[in-house]
Amino acid sequence: MNTTTRADAGTGALADRFEASFGAAPHGVWAAPGRVNLIGEHTDYNEGFVLPFAIDKRARTAVRLRGDSSVRLLSTFGGQGLVEADADGLAPGTVKGWVKYPLGVVWALQQRGIDVPGFDLLLDSDVPLGAGLSSSHAIECAVVLALNELTGAGLTAEEMVMLTHHAENAFVGAPTGIMDQSASLRGASGHAVFLDCRDQSVELVPFRAQDAGLVLLVVDTKVAHSHADGGYASRRASCELGAEVLGVKALRDVTVADLEEAGGLLDPVTFRRVRHVVTENARVLRAVDTLRSHGPARIGHLLDASHASMRDDFEISCPELDLAVDTARGHGAIGARMTGGGFGGSAIALTPVRDERQVRDAVVRAFAEAGFTAPDIFTVTPAAGAERLS
Ligand code: ADP
Ligand code: MG
Repeated sequence: MNTTTRADAGTGALADRFEASFGAAPHGVWAAPGRVNLIGEHTDYNEGFVLPFAIDKRARTAVRLRGDSSVRLLSTFGGQGLVEADADGLAPGTVKGWVKYPLGVVWALQQRGIDVPGFDLLLDSDVPLGAGLSSSHAIECAVVLALNELTGAGLTAEEMVMLTHHAENAFVGAPTGIMDQSASLRGASGHAVFLDCRDQSVELVPFRAQDAGLVLLVVDTKVAHSHADGGYASRRASCELGAEVLGVKALRDVTVADLEEAGGLLDPVTFRRVRHVVTENARVLRAVDTLRSHGPARIGHLLDASHASMRDDFEISCPELDLAVDTARGHGAIGARMTGGGFGGSAIALTPVRDERQVRDAVVRAFAEAGFTAPDIFTVTPAAGAERLS
């Protein structure tokens, strides 16, 4: 009840702001959340398993279709000015800045043969940027939901997942998988999204840390990551090489039992990359079983093992993430890992409520002592997926 009241008030204010900026009321307001990945990192593009959830931070877009083909885009973030574009003639590589996310969605809709007229759009998001919580997909999902409805395109959630995947890969130029938008579009309050990235099948798995006396802390290290940089792409390339040498369609088809033989076929680096993906898939399945049978209090060791695998085998951690994880574990967290693509971004720490203050203080202190930028630390809970607000 409270949440609804708050959301409505915020939605009204956004609509008012839209009207003040564009001179007419929006046709609607749509929201899509960021996500945290509980476990299953770099498994999505290997057609494996992931277990993210939609978080209680989201992007909201107020949209009004126009009678011409011009697109006017405004964000409440960082005093950025109005950006104007033309819906006709969009092409990959021609758009810079934040508007590549909404315009990438327009382009991807057009690629599907959907006619998108011009529109005015106001974006407001409280998903932290570049923190590994997928602020970019929150935008894309809120936009695709709005345009799907306003154009009458009638796309299903699964189709919108593939569409935003195409937008992010081909238009934005970030070679990401389908996890983020699946969590944002298909998440549900109180649940994690167990996603099989091979066939997009989803099972909602209860994840209520609070009921087990726990909180999930996010430590945003403030180290900017970029999917467009080489690290992410080179990990993908290693995985593709591994699958090719092992003669499988994707690393999803390799089991933990196959690893010994794989060791003899792959160069040492590729083998370690493969071992991360294979063991990570197994950890996701264990986490799902454990959550269902025993609840969140028993998944701590899986989070720890996931972090060690990313640090040592996949080599996508960084000193700030390792410090956040180690310090949280040393001060009461029952499990911790970096989350997201790596090389920066955020760590998560599953922490007993009674130790929350101690963990927060210890991490802040450790960062100061190491001379790192002060981290942002906050809790997240599984929230509703993308929806229309008004
Ligand atoms: P992540 O998705 O992990 O947060 P990305 O680099 O993929 O990181 O996306 C971050 C980008 O998304 C920002 O650089 C910016 O262009 C865009 N962005 C996110 N939130 C907003 C916002 N509120 N207003 C404008 N642009 C935003
Ligand atoms: Mg992103």
